[in-house]
Amino acid sequence: MASPSATVYLSLGANLGDRLANLRLALARLQTLAHLEEVSSLYETQPQGVTDQPLFFNAVCRLSTGLEPQALLRFLKNLEWEAGRRPGGQTWGPRPIDLDILLYDDRLVDAPELTVPHPRLAERAFVLVPLCELAPELRHPLLGKTMEELLASLGEKGVKKTAPTGWEKSDGNEGIAGAEA
Ligand code: ATP
Ligand code: CA
Ligand code: CA
Repeated sequence: MASPSATVYLSLGANLGDRLANLRLALARLQTLAHLEEVSSLYETQPQGVTDQPLFFNAVCRLSTGLEPQALLRFLKNLEWEAGRRPGGQTWGPRPIDLDILLYDDRLVDAPELTVPHPRLAERAFVLVPLCELAPELRHPLLGKTMEELLASLGEKGVKKTAPTGWEKSDGNEGIAGAEA
């Protein structure tokens, strides 16, 4: 029996190597096993936690998939490896790619290797700004507030739009600050 599709929001980040190419690779691979419904604008953001590192590119996407959360996480970890990330890096340090599951329908997951909703979602403007483009009215299943309300409490500090929606499809790098030629 085919499993019904879940609606999933993912956070994508990169601050090493060709950041744009890394994010595009991730989105291309995701389309091989999920239906990629929408991708936010691309943002350039100040690093948080460890501030002495290059600026990040961040975005959020929505997909529908029949994959269960744990299987999706395994896929994302393999994809991170393919994009050049190796385990054991500094916590919140520089990385060529970071793919996090933000929300998986209204599902709550509390396992050693996976927590959903992502526990730091509401503290991060680099997540909430792109997420609000896609789903401002979406309600956080634990906090009971919409993404728009969470962002209003937090503020948009350190997050700058660097390319509008569609950036992942265009071949050129027009208008994308810091993109390698
Ligand atoms: P943060 O979770 O604060 O964003 P990070 O993304 O830098 O930090 P990583 O080193 O990429 O952390 O991941 C550490 C572990 O977090 C992963 O190996 C994964 O098993 C686990 N993890 C727990 N919840 C999630 C989630 N919702 N999405 C992705 N990974 C998760
Ligand atoms: Ca992360
Ligand atoms: Ca991660």
